[in-house]
Order: sequence, then C-alpha cells, then structure tokens
Amino acid sequence: MSSSYTGIEWTDKTWNPTTGCNKVSPGCLHCYAEVLTKRFSKTFPNGFELTLHPERLEQPLRWRTPSRIFVNSMSDLFHDDVPFSYLQEIFRIMQQTPWHIYQILTKRDKRLVELAPKLQWAENIWMGVSVENQAYTHRIDALRQVPSRVRFLSCEPLLGSLQLNLEGIDWVIVGGESGFNHRSIDPQWVRDILRQTQEQEVAFFFKQWGGNHPKAGGNLLDERVWEQMPQAWEIHKLNWQKNNLKQAKSELKQNYLISI
Ligand code: SF4
Repeated sequence: MSSSYTGIEWTDKTWNPTTGCNKVSPGCLHCYAEVLTKRFSKTFPNGFELTLHPERLEQPLRWRTPSRIFVNSMSDLFHDDVPFSYLQEIFRIMQQTPWHIYQILTKRDKRLVELAPKLQWAENIWMGVSVENQAYTHRIDALRQVPSRVRFLSCEPLLGSLQLNLEGIDWVIVGGESGFNHRSIDPQWVRDILRQTQEQEVAFFFKQWGGNHPKAGGNLLDERVWEQMPQAWEIHKLNWQKNNLKQAKSELKQNYLISI
C-alpha cells in the first residue's frame, strides 16, 4: 500500500521497501499481506511476488516526526530474494534517521542469523521474530544472537500454548487471527504468556482476540488492556524531546544574535 499509516496498534507507520513473499510456516496460512495484494491488484501489479521498491527507500528521511516504523508489513526483509546489498541500503537509511524506531519482524531466522553479523545495528533498530506455536520457538534462539537494541516476539496469530525462554527478550506481542477463516485462540494460552512475561520481567502487549475482522473481539484480557512497550521506547522519546528542546534553544540563540 502506498499510504504509510497503519491500524497496527504497536507501531505508528509502515515502510515497505519490498512487497511480496511466500509462505514458510502455519502462521502464514491466511497472510494478510497476500490478501491485500489480491484485493488491490492495481497497486500490486506483481501480486504477491517478492518485489523491490527502491523508490521507497528514502521515505523515512521525509518523515520528520519521530515514529515507530514497522519495516515490511507487506513482506519479509530476510526473504532469500532480497539482495544483501539492498538490505544494507535499508539499514543505512535506518541509521541516517535516528529520530525513528524501526521494528523489523521476520520468520526467516536462518538468514537473519547468517546476515546479522554483517549488518550495522544502530540503537534505533529493533528486531523481532514471529512465534505462532511451540514448534517455532527455535526462532527465539536465533533472535538472541542478533545484537539489536530491542529483541521482540510477535505471537500472532497465536495457534497454540507456548512455553517461552525469554532470556534476552524485551517485548512480547500476542494476538489472535482475524479474517473469515480465522483459527480460534484459547484465552488460557494468552494468560499463560502474560504470566511468563511477568515472571521474566518482559513487556507484554495484547493486540487483539481476532475474529472476522481485527477489532471483532476487542483487546481486553480479563477486563484489562495490556499495551506495554519496551523501556527503550520511553528512553527514545525522552531523548528526542530533549534533542528538540536543544535545537529550539540553539535556533532561538541564533535568531537573537542575528537580530542584534
Ligand atoms: S512470512 Fe509474513 S509476509 Fe511472508 S507469507 Fe508469511 S505471514 Fe506473509
């Protein structure tokens, strides 16, 4: 989609320097990115085929308000068909825009581990993996090897109960599946993950129960909304507020000097 605004609750904007993908695990079965490429075929002339969009690379440079940016809501950055040189370009843009936080999510843990040591991990780049059921918790072991400032899990669509080792993990997002063929979620799975995040002192974000559409079941878990963010987000906001203040002071000083 060309618009960068999003209804995804844990981010502010999306940035899609690539679109398209192919399915790798059960969480992909009703991939919403694929559904969108089918629904808006004029916007996505290549359909769900992996496509690079170099014309979008510099978009974040034009977004002046510090934001949380979900990188590749319509694809997977660590897909085999994304050339390493293109990945480096994406990382270069993220480094050049330290006022934003970038949230990258992948299901391709093998390529992530292989390429992570060759990439420049700036403070504002957060890395996450999807974990839909217990069979894919090995992605968390891969994530632990990545030197990102924040490491997070997206357990959406949650398809089973999870026993999680959260060592080195800062944030867990949980959500049920949405769409007419959605697979149902057991509230006890969600409560169990909440308990584990509390025991292991990790931020917890419950996005939605899911249903025929994303908002169908709401996001109350035992009458409470859980929208915790990692501490790094508060620190980032404070730093950029200070930075703005410093810049405003220096502009004021410059204007004053010019006027006398
Ligand atoms: S990895 Fe993500 S974008 Fe790719 S098919 Fe699976 S759910 Fe869709």
